[in-house]
Amino acid sequence: MSYEEFYRRSIEQPEAFWAEQARAIHWHKPPERILDYDRPPFRRWFVGGETNLCYNSLDRHLEARGDQLALVAISSETGQTRELSYRELHREVNAFAAVLKSLDVVRGDRVVIYMPNMAEAVFAMLACARIGAVHSVVFGGFAAHNLALRIDDARPKLLICADAGMRGGKVIPYKPLVDAACAEAASPPPRVLVVNRGLDPALRLIAGRDLDYAGLRAQHAEATVEVEWLESNEPSYLLYTSGTTGKPKGVQRDVGGYAVALALSMWSIYDVRAGQVMFSTSDVGWAVGHSYNVYGPLIAGATSVLYEGLPTHPDPGIWWRICEQYGVRTMFSSPTGIRVLKKQDAAWLKAHDLSRLQWLFLAGEPLDEPTAHWITDGIDKPIIDNYWQTETGWPVLALMPGLDMRPIKFGSPGLPTPGYRLRVIDEATGRDVGANEKGVLVIVPPLPPGCMSTVWNDDARFLSSYFGHFKELLYSSLDWAIRDDDGYTFILGRTDDVINVAGHRLGTREIEESVASHPAVAEAAVIGVHDELKGQVPVVFATLKQAGDQDAARVAAGMRQCVVDQLGAVARPARVYVVAALPKTRSGKLLRRSIQALAESRDPGDLSTLDDPAALDEVQRALARGADA
Ligand code: AMP
Repeated sequence: MSYEEFYRRSIEQPEAFWAEQARAIHWHKPPERILDYDRPPFRRWFVGGETNLCYNSLDRHLEARGDQLALVAISSETGQTRELSYRELHREVNAFAAVLKSLDVVRGDRVVIYMPNMAEAVFAMLACARIGAVHSVVFGGFAAHNLALRIDDARPKLLICADAGMRGGKVIPYKPLVDAACAEAASPPPRVLVVNRGLDPALRLIAGRDLDYAGLRAQHAEATVEVEWLESNEPSYLLYTSGTTGKPKGVQRDVGGYAVALALSMWSIYDVRAGQVMFSTSDVGWAVGHSYNVYGPLIAGATSVLYEGLPTHPDPGIWWRICEQYGVRTMFSSPTGIRVLKKQDAAWLKAHDLSRLQWLFLAGEPLDEPTAHWITDGIDKPIIDNYWQTETGWPVLALMPGLDMRPIKFGSPGLPTPGYRLRVIDEATGRDVGANEKGVLVIVPPLPPGCMSTVWNDDARFLSSYFGHFKELLYSSLDWAIRDDDGYTFILGRTDDVINVAGHRLGTREIEESVASHPAVAEAAVIGVHDELKGQVPVVFATLKQAGDQDAARVAAGMRQCVVDQLGAVARPARVYVVAALPKTRSGKLLRRSIQALAESRDPGDLSTLDDPAALDEVQRALARGADA
């Protein structure tokens, strides 16, 4: 079937289309109603249907492919590789689920998972799914304060962590960060389950709270745990993401709609079917990790390759060696990952047999054309840019080689995927802009299956964050876009104060709050500034409470440390400038866009609302003088 026909059917006859797609997964009880849209913009897919993500990922495949590899977890940090067949993964997940049950974790309970890309992170996620517990994986690069915020919002019954992660050969202990987060949190989990890889000799378990996973696993090694059948719209997991406020939003995903959307995306977009191999370089802490390292490939009956380590360690050929060794068909990475490799000898791209690799998908941030050309030429494979958000859970824009490959246009993530009714509209009037004109990318609700159901515990925030921007009820992507005459969409960056650092989404507000926690700081403005490698980097401009009598360099270094300690190294400011004043509007709003423009040597734009022109000069002087840290 042609792409156009397939897409049109998904838009014109959504219920028939999705009813058909729903047959790709196992339903313990079939849905009674395909779509309930009685309470816009909330929608429920496959109402009354009962299913389970773990069953669809594992049990369903045991008969036909029990001995096929399900998960390959490779760590170039520890030097270990774990290969698990569907049967072995099923056994590990059952043991893990039995441990969870022995700790009184039941359906609907939240479980925070704070682990690096190791096999047990996948076991833990699937074990939660099996018993109907709601997992909330927190990216291991986030520091204690960030973890504490997520704990207090999710109120978990249990936290599962590793003793440590590793990066570039250096051990990064996780457990002390968990202890600090639990000390800071208002509602810390009563129990912490520690998966100890023996990386941190200083690991200490707190009696009465902390438990060692290995001991419990041994008690439950042969257990089988019955699947908890969930109504399609019950929550499967939470995944926190940054917005414009300092408080991250818990994106809540359902069960049935998510499984159906992933099943569809696996064959049609990623061109991976049962028995084939997918390698995603993402971390389990991100949306890509959830959808395409864990649930997507397993629901499809494919083999998922998980990688812990740098793209350049032990050498810059490591990713391609993995592709050769496991016969990877589809690889999924980020533009930053490729830009890291671009700094290395291009000969590494030719050092391995990539004859079985068909596609390299890149997502998470804008793919610049030079990088796209470099990697296309280097590995001689089609590079498919795809655009999505944590909120959507699967691509909004992509090309669909598993269905009907359309021509690649460099700089564009392509065409709308099934179920997404997209418009590009004028920010002020809400009217559609013409072809090749810039506007805001919006999704006409109801959102397709797989997208978020709501913000955890906060329907009002779901409405105001995403649906409160226009007179019409529309989901704002908060991204600028242009659609060309052929319907290809180009993404031009965020409309809000969210920045994208190496494909990681960070809220400038969170970083500002962290900088302002330094006792000497009066106020801070954080902006994202263009960076050759990471796309954007955070840059801080701050005023001090007592100007003049402070050592600017020392205070600036202290601000940077506050961010690293509270939020994690991912948010580390690239530069910190101490200034006498920050440019604001007359109503007191920080003019972040003007500061950003100056920092990128661009025109500061409309300054009609600027309160004090001297503040802008001050920023310019600071830029000319150079950063304080
Ligand atoms: P996250 O929720 O962390 O995946 O971040 C989503 C945001 O990343 C989007 O709103 C975009 O701003 C950006 N993004 C993701 N994929 C792409 C892409 N292929 N091209 C341009 N921007 C992208």
